[in-house]
Amino acid sequence: MEVNEHKRKIANLCRFCGKTTKLKSAKAKGNFKNEFATGYGIVIEEDNDFIHPPCVCLSCVRHFYRLRDSASRGELTSSLSNTPCSWKPHTEESSCICNKKKGDQV
Ligand SMILES: [Zn+2]
Ligand SMILES: [Zn+2]
Repeated sequence: MEVNEHKRKIANLCRFCGKTTKLKSAKAKGNFKNEFATGYGIVIEEDNDFIHPPCVCLSCVRHFYRLRDSASRGELTSSLSNTPCSWKPHTEESSCICNKKKGDQV
């Protein structure tokens, strides 16, 4: 498996949860860089195009909007229990999330 193949596959995965996105409903992760940063300490600007997916799936989009909402009301967010997927550089040996089949634990 080539790095480019990885890049092609992650184009359809969610940056946050690692699940397959439906491209039409996915949003660019840049829309949520504040939520990534304040909620999870993830700096989107430091993402690597060859490691990290570019989009966020619809259910995570909703999650981020909820975070944004409660932040704008000055509330502490209650929904930080979601754990972001950790992305690693693709190597031949290690099993990569892009090789995982539907139903595998992420
Ligand atoms: Zn991969
Ligand atoms: Zn997601």
